[in-house]
Amino acid sequence: MPRRRTAFAAELPWPDYQAAVADGETPILIPVGSMEQHGHHMPLHVDVLLPTEFARRAAEAVGGLVAPGFSYGYKSHQKSGGGNHLPGTTSLDGATLVAALKNVILEFARHGARRFVLVNGHYENSWFLVEGIDLALKELRWDGVRDAKILLLSYWDFVTPEAIARLYPDGFPGWAVEHGGVLETSLMLALHPELVDLDRAIDHPPARFPPYEVYPIRPEWTPPSGTLSSPKNASRQKGELLLDVCTAGIVSALRAEFA
Ligand SMILES: [Zn+2]
Repeated sequence: MPRRRTAFAAELPWPDYQAAVADGETPILIPVGSMEQHGHHMPLHVDVLLPTEFARRAAEAVGGLVAPGFSYGYKSHQKSGGGNHLPGTTSLDGATLVAALKNVILEFARHGARRFVLVNGHYENSWFLVEGIDLALKELRWDGVRDAKILLLSYWDFVTPEAIARLYPDGFPGWAVEHGGVLETSLMLALHPELVDLDRAIDHPPARFPPYEVYPIRPEWTPPSGTLSSPKNASRQKGELLLDVCTAGIVSALRAEFA
């Protein structure tokens, strides 16, 4: 695959874009994020920046193109993102996200693309992405397109047990309460340190929730910081470890599936 001067599809003039996608071989990587509060120490677009960078790194390794990402995602869930009631968190209804994702996949397929990778950065998106994929594949089949293949991944699923032991020497609290904690803060320190203010990070024990949910939600169940675990032990070095481990895992998944 020839090396392009940019991995970002939208930075190409259309003839270059067309040459890249027309034969269906070039994977299109679509970052899917959210606009969601991430505590007092980080901005609202963490879930967009992180998957976009993983997508860029993976695209450069396999000759793929990164599509413009989704800046809005499904509603923040209290037990994984603090809750949709929090200021700044700006979310889509599930049906809107499903429809928009299906639209975008069908458009890229119209240009010739047949290989897709959804790079998720916001846990709550997960099942809506599955639904968008399912509907898009169904419509493509109706159109006679049977060779489309779509990978769905969330970057944190590539963190290995060895990396977890190094990242959380005092014990791993679990991905569910990682919102705004060590994982995302370390990655942001490695990639966008100018957007992180650790002096404003609030140290608190991991959030604890009862084994059920209640709606309307009880705002007092969410720690006042908005984060679900403490970012205190985040570091740039941990972010670099995460970047290396997750990028390697994503690249080998793409190589295995698109060989
Ligand atoms: Zn996040």
